[in-house]
Amino acid sequence: MRAPVVSGADKSATDRQTMDLFSGPFFEQARRQFHVIADYLEIPDDERDRLLLPKRAVAVACPIHRDDGTTAVFMGYRVQHHLTMGPTKGGTRYAPDLHMGEVAALAISMSWKCALAGLPYGGAKGGVAVDPHALSKRELEAVSRRYMQELIPFVGAKVDVMAPDMGTNEQTMAWYMDTYSMYHGQTVTEIVTGKPVGAGGTVGRREATGRGVVHLVGRAMERLQLSPGHATAIVQGFGNVGSVTAQTLVQQGVKVIGVSDHTSCYFDKNGLDIPAMIKHADLHGCLRGFSSELEFDPHELLIQKCDILVPAAMERVITEKNAPHLKCRILAEGANGPTTPEADRILAERNGEVFVIPDILCNAGGVVVSYFEWVQDLQQLFWTEPEVRDRLNRILERAFQAVMHRAERDHVPHRTAAMAIGVEKVRRAKQTRGLFP
Ligand code: NAD
Repeated sequence: MRAPVVSGADKSATDRQTMDLFSGPFFEQARRQFHVIADYLEIPDDERDRLLLPKRAVAVACPIHRDDGTTAVFMGYRVQHHLTMGPTKGGTRYAPDLHMGEVAALAISMSWKCALAGLPYGGAKGGVAVDPHALSKRELEAVSRRYMQELIPFVGAKVDVMAPDMGTNEQTMAWYMDTYSMYHGQTVTEIVTGKPVGAGGTVGRREATGRGVVHLVGRAMERLQLSPGHATAIVQGFGNVGSVTAQTLVQQGVKVIGVSDHTSCYFDKNGLDIPAMIKHADLHGCLRGFSSELEFDPHELLIQKCDILVPAAMERVITEKNAPHLKCRILAEGANGPTTPEADRILAERNGEVFVIPDILCNAGGVVVSYFEWVQDLQQLFWTEPEVRDRLNRILERAFQAVMHRAERDHVPHRTAAMAIGVEKVRRAKQTRGLFP
């Protein structure tokens, strides 16, 4: 007999109680996306809150001494979505407007991503409401160490393992690891991933997300019978994910014709000089000042004709406004949550014109290699770069095939297929373990 089904538009009592804590359009997006999947999987009403609502959400105040002698306090957050399949795992974001709802949405998405990739983790996410560009290096170190210090009671190598995300990098992870290690009186490299190779990191982690994006773009191109040598790409965001994606696309023979970051946007239909842009960004911290001739309107960038469009900056940039006008063949979601549910509906109505590689599949390379780093740290046995690449590609390949098979079998969009595989795995684990985790 079929279980009763509720509409994704309805909010449960618990949903309503938690709306103040987990507010904002991004959390609402994660909630709506989940209910679409729950409707498709016919998950009964009374099981939904248990799957969706985060197990633990922590807010911490992080005071620091500023360089001018004053004191400033920055709010930090960490959300651990579920503890059913092992420790939680997820990045740490530094952004001025960060709030609990955004962090919770990202943690939930991490759960479906880890389950889809077959990793033994629940999802987590964290961060600090701070503009990293507005602090000196010393101030940034002070915030980072204080944030980790405040979270020591809630994290651990078998409890919750952090990693980089927007606004943080290898250096931030080294500060976290050092702070945690000093507290414990011994070096605990496995407490965070995305560390520098010289401090217990793995080869290939920094490049993992972008390389994973390009590997999956390659699979999509095969399906669409596009050849890299004739293909063009546009990449929004030029940080870790965007710059590595652009560079790897160029290495595969793809012409990258448009690139942007938070300071500037460039377009050249003959192809941009990506290695020169990377050098410029390394030197100046951003793309501003790269070229005055190639400047372009960032609002127009995403709707330019290209074969591969890679949003690799922030969430909710593909909306009902621009979705009807996308002129790409492949939408490769390097960022988390770049496409709103309304845009998803429009893309579905466009009947396969745009081949979507959904975020939880497309950018999973980062967490997969983070998992490799954690395993290597636990064993103190380190792999070579070809080993890391080969294992990464095998996991992505398996996930890609599973998503394609599910989408074709059930005639559902790729996002529905990918999320359903993740949600089903978490649901099964919860059903067999019981109520606690
Ligand atoms: P990052 O901080 O290294 O880079 C972010 C980039 O986005 C910067 O170039 C910044 O200038 C740009 N940006 C910010 N606002 C912009 C705007 N309005 N328009 C254009 N560009 C803008 O961050 P990252 O690690 O590359 O993360 C980017 C996205 O990828 C995020 O959604 C993150 O959650 C996701 N992600 C990252 C990883 C990882 O391993 N780092 C893994 C999976 C997903």
